[in-house]
Amino acid sequence: METRTEISSLGEFGLIQRINKGIRPTLPDTVRGIGDDAAVIDLGEEFGLLTTDMFLEGIHFDLTFFPLKHLGYKIIAAGISDIAAMNGIPRQVTINLALSNRFSVEAVDELYEGMKLACKDFNVDLVGGDTTSSRSGLIISVSAFGKVKKEKIAYRNTAQPNDLLCVTGDLGGAYMGLQLLEREKQVFMANPNMQPELDGKDYVIQRQLRPEARMDVVYELEEAGVIPTSMIDLSDGLASDLLHICAQSGVGAVIFEERLPIDEQTYLAASELNIGAATAALNGGEDYELLFTVSQSAYELIKNNPKITFIGYITDKKGEVELHTKGDSRVPLTAQGWNA
Ligand code: ADP
Ligand code: MG
Repeated sequence: METRTEISSLGEFGLIQRINKGIRPTLPDTVRGIGDDAAVIDLGEEFGLLTTDMFLEGIHFDLTFFPLKHLGYKIIAAGISDIAAMNGIPRQVTINLALSNRFSVEAVDELYEGMKLACKDFNVDLVGGDTTSSRSGLIISVSAFGKVKKEKIAYRNTAQPNDLLCVTGDLGGAYMGLQLLEREKQVFMANPNMQPELDGKDYVIQRQLRPEARMDVVYELEEAGVIPTSMIDLSDGLASDLLHICAQSGVGAVIFEERLPIDEQTYLAASELNIGAATAALNGGEDYELLFTVSQSAYELIKNNPKITFIGYITDKKGEVELHTKGDSRVPLTAQGWNA
């Protein structure tokens, strides 16, 4: 009898690992295949970077509250964020689009307005794609190509014991923004005359609807003369993405709850919705900030950059990734698993 294994028994990362086991790059210019934020290709002088991400209506976005223009912007930002995570410079993007007959020409125009804006902001060219019909709403995928000087590339698997752990911006905002938008949707569906209660929540809503890729920090690190010893972008959440860095680097880490950068609006939304703000910061996805490590000698060079927070350090205790809580206890960090 043929066996049937449920995908949920492996989880997203287990499934990718299984796919990876069956694939071995053979070409001499394939420097790095599956496993990092982008694949790495030897272009001679430089490395090329290639990454792709897919977004499905009903899984990754809900068009009842997600304006198409913002969605277009977010998709491009997500692709570019993976190039930033390699310490690279994005150059070109392509877009695949599947549309059901629910969508009008004007809707597609809106989507592309947002994409064009992002392309301008991040200085990339949209150079192609594919368009097809769909039976289940809107599906968009983005592929991004970028470049990085060979000596500047930052992988996930090169964090060293005693390195400092840094994160850009603030965490948990995109997740709290989503929770607020979903709550307002429920209220609206129950009573369409209700006005949305989103005053004073503009920052977290914007974190969800219009995230930025942190290219600004990539450039500032370069100006400071700092090359991260490892880097990943925060798409799944700090806990999950830190576990990737530690597992792939064969190291452990300690992060301090009191150091987690959390915006005031994130705190307010979290308390309003009865969610721990630290939980949102650790497990909320889609912040598209950068998590990176630097050697201790880099501390002086970036300590005054207000966009960067030092949240902990790397240890030689392989697999031990711990949160030092405000109550001075140490708890192991776990990933939230399947994350969409
Ligand atoms: P990210 O969140 O940075 O986009 P993912 O967790 O989606 O990264 O992917 C991790 C790695 O697995 C990447 O190298 C990606 O290219 C690869 N990957 C994901 N899905 C597949 C797949 N279906 N086939 C081959 N490689 C995949
Ligand atoms: Mg990534």
